[in-house]
Amino acid sequence: MKKRGLLIVVSGFAGSGKGTLMKRLTGDYDNYALSVSMTTRKPRPGEVHGREYFFVTKEEFEQKIQDDGLIEYAVYVENYYGTPRAYVEEQMAKGKNVVLEIEIQGALKVKERFPEAVLIFVLPPSVKELYRRLKERGTEAEDVIEKRMHRAEKEADTIDRYDYIMINDEVEESVKRLHSLIEAAHFTPGRNEEFIRGIKDDLRTLWKGDH
Ligand code: 5GP
Repeated sequence: MKKRGLLIVVSGFAGSGKGTLMKRLTGDYDNYALSVSMTTRKPRPGEVHGREYFFVTKEEFEQKIQDDGLIEYAVYVENYYGTPRAYVEEQMAKGKNVVLEIEIQGALKVKERFPEAVLIFVLPPSVKELYRRLKERGTEAEDVIEKRMHRAEKEADTIDRYDYIMINDEVEESVKRLHSLIEAAHFTPGRNEEFIRGIKDDLRTLWKGDH
């Protein structure tokens, strides 16, 4: 039987570099699949329907909720964002680790529904570096950067509800570390209950203790 993949949930501050990290992880190793979310926000220049997101109307999104077609969803800055169920289940059944890059409310909902999910919070090496990265993007005005820094301050309160933190200092190193961390997560007792139960049952039934 092929081993089911894990759900990998990644969150992090804007400017933590999580997007780049996820693209590299899913590109460099072949046992990952990156989930494409559905959203009601408008595409930004360069974004492609079906690649960055499935861009839909509010009505279409609400219909998807009705049909139980999302494993989680959240409202973020006045728009809906959600994870389509079908792709996630199909890829996990194939043995792929499915990566969801989602915000905190959604991440915590996933953990409630799928306790075996691995929650990872990506952090910059320092706050100074976070500010520098946001500034470097050059797309945001100073007041927007300030809002993002304040949001990060609030988001930081949730970090201890994640399973791991990932300090994203240098991309090459970070991708390797992230992969090792996910590999290790496959071997916790909680994620291998069925196997452990099998060993225990066999010990009880096959080993009669006549030694
Ligand atoms: P953006 O509009 O900048 O692409 O994304 C805004 C936020 O929504 C980011 O924190 C992103 O990780 C999060 N997000 C993207 N897709 C989903 C999703 O399917 N569910 C949830 N809960 N959040 C998402």
